[in-house]
Amino acid sequence: MKLKEQQTHKTYAVDTLLWRGENGFLFDLETEAVFSREKIDTRKPNMWRYREAIPIIGEENVISFEEGFTPLLPVDFNGKRVWIKQEQLFSTGSYKDRGASVLMSHVKSLKVKHVVQDSSGNAGCAVAAYAAKAGINCDIYVPADTSPAKLAQIAWYGANIQLVPGSREDTAAKALEAAQHIYYASHCYNPFFLHGTKTFAYEVCEQLHWKAPDAVVLPAGNGTLLLGCEIGFYDLYKAGIISKLPKLIAVQSAHCAPLYHAFHQGLEHIKPVETLPTLAEGIAIAQPVRAQQMLQAVKQTHGTFISVSEEEITNALIDCLNRGYYIEPTSAATIAGLLKYVKESDDNLIVSLFSGHGLKSTEKLMKILDKKNHH
Ligand SMILES: *Cc1c(COP(=O)(O)O)cnc(C)c1O
Repeated sequence: MKLKEQQTHKTYAVDTLLWRGENGFLFDLETEAVFSREKIDTRKPNMWRYREAIPIIGEENVISFEEGFTPLLPVDFNGKRVWIKQEQLFSTGSYKDRGASVLMSHVKSLKVKHVVQDSSGNAGCAVAAYAAKAGINCDIYVPADTSPAKLAQIAWYGANIQLVPGSREDTAAKALEAAQHIYYASHCYNPFFLHGTKTFAYEVCEQLHWKAPDAVVLPAGNGTLLLGCEIGFYDLYKAGIISKLPKLIAVQSAHCAPLYHAFHQGLEHIKPVETLPTLAEGIAIAQPVRAQQMLQAVKQTHGTFISVSEEEITNALIDCLNRGYYIEPTSAATIAGLLKYVKESDDNLIVSLFSGHGLKSTEKLMKILDKKNHH
């Protein structure tokens, strides 16, 4: 296995036509988030209430289902109250809508008419939905074993589905090939996606009356939410709205944990790791392209990486489902990590999330139910 580590030292202007730097390096955007508290207060409760902080040129280009401002619900875990953002409640069923809304708005502003994307499911669903709303053609590459509910969703949004046999990495390679001719609306490479997911951090702070939590427990696959949070909390800190940065606590499945291993070995880069199938398909990423950035983000906020076993994921999932929180198995990995964190931490204000809706994985949930009933 060859690892391609790409660094980000560069920033590009927000009207850039590129999704990656000329030299193949990743880049971030040259933009400064502005917050107008008076304007924010008067606007509808969705993520575009932070309009001045979102780097999209021209109101006519904004592609939105009025997504975001999901409830921040207090939930007790092991006797401790934690704030759980209900990110399963988006129109496509996962928080990926935040990134897709901003990225596809940018695509529209560029007058691009055709995009390609690859995903293990949810990012594909989100990009396809926003492409449908914008009237932009869309090819989505997915692994052949992607769950039928996600495939149906992508197909019904009118996207052209390309099933790729083999691993998640094989799918990524196919999309990268197509991206030589078609604009790559990638949630991993394209920095505009992160300028959508950053609104998660804005909302958390607003919902806590403009205060930063002590720690935020997040999933870590490609890091779209983790890196969005890095940007978002830093924006608020720089604007003088919050006075500290929360610790970013990143959760990986033990069956695919390249970042967990690198972090605890004190490395700045990931090394190739052995992987096994996991219930948490959405975060089973062996070679996240922004790995170095993810390791840095966690280190700089004095956070940590946690890994969770299949048994811990299953137990967290069953507990959530039984209590009325209908989430997909990938979301339960984050909660399993949260349970571990809560046990050892004395933080007061801990935030985490339900990342995806359970209706996306009926087949998997039926299998778990069958197994449980046979015991
Ligand atoms: C995408 C996704 C994740 C993980 O996000 P990364 O950006 O890959 O770190 C977690 N849960 C669900 C439901 C997702 O769709």
